[in-house]
Amino acid sequence: MAFTLSEIMAARRQQQQSQRSGRGVVEVDEYSANPTQAFTFYNINQGRFQPPHVHMVDPLPHDSPKPPGYTRFVCISDTHSRTDTIQMPYGDVLLHAGDFTELGLPSEVKKFNDWLGTLPYEIKIVIAGNHELTFDQEFMADLIKQDFYYFPSASKLKPENYENVQSMLTNCIYLQDSDVTVRGFRIYGSPWQPWYYGWGFNLPRGQALLDKWNQIPDSTDILLTHCPPLGFLDWVPRKMQRVGCMELLNTVQRRVQPKLHVFGHIHEGKWTESQNWKAVARFLTISFPVAQPQLYRKIYSQHMERHFQVVIVWRTNLFGGPHPPFLCH
Ligand SMILES: [Zn+2]
Ligand SMILES: [Zn+2]
Repeated sequence: MAFTLSEIMAARRQQQQSQRSGRGVVEVDEYSANPTQAFTFYNINQGRFQPPHVHMVDPLPHDSPKPPGYTRFVCISDTHSRTDTIQMPYGDVLLHAGDFTELGLPSEVKKFNDWLGTLPYEIKIVIAGNHELTFDQEFMADLIKQDFYYFPSASKLKPENYENVQSMLTNCIYLQDSDVTVRGFRIYGSPWQPWYYGWGFNLPRGQALLDKWNQIPDSTDILLTHCPPLGFLDWVPRKMQRVGCMELLNTVQRRVQPKLHVFGHIHEGKWTESQNWKAVARFLTISFPVAQPQLYRKIYSQHMERHFQVVIVWRTNLFGGPHPPFLCH
């Protein structure tokens, strides 16, 4: 893929300006509509996907001790109503990055909330993802005008069944374009993602998504989004495309600069770490002796500070095959 000299020089000027001025105002990126091309361009010309622009946090083994004074975050995502076999590691704060159900059916939400109730974390924070259809009131309003053929299970729901679906989450703090401060960390959560086959919380790339990210306060310590920023665990091999959000990447790197960004959504995202399945498996084998590497989430972080720890929990096999439970030593 070729870029003109003027494009490259313009990108370098923009980078230098943002470095000089610190936190800047983020505008819609010129490559917003083509994230795969954007990745190539910004990788070659600005190295934005490697240190020092980012710091990838290796997950801690489940049994690693917590030094005094630290807060330990356990991060999980895309559990899709399949929590039965997961044994969770210990920690102080649970962060769930969305897609905790398949369709946001009230029965699924109840099951998830019941599971949360069994977990020992002091604080549990949850956002929705594109699968939580009923949490997106505008989406449901549109859906009931249509014939529901795409989501037949949702067609059985009456509006009164899901109007207050958020209130079913009694065992956690639910964030939706909102924030909460716990243990001194300001945590902001948002469910939106670039259009993805007409599911919940879909928005067009560009200004519509940037408007959502512009609501994230500058002083956010931990950002919880369902969708990945461009270039991080967003590679979909069957399409040979990156699907992360360019505006989210710019918002994270150029304005908010959170200590930690936790996200989920693209189940195939493991391939961004390595094109080699065996390399992925070996990496995981070291950290989690019995975990299957089909689906996992990793953490993307800037300006990592030393007073918190992160444990990442891999979810169970989405495809329903036999799967051993996660073991916590
Ligand atoms: Zn998912
Ligand atoms: Zn998703």
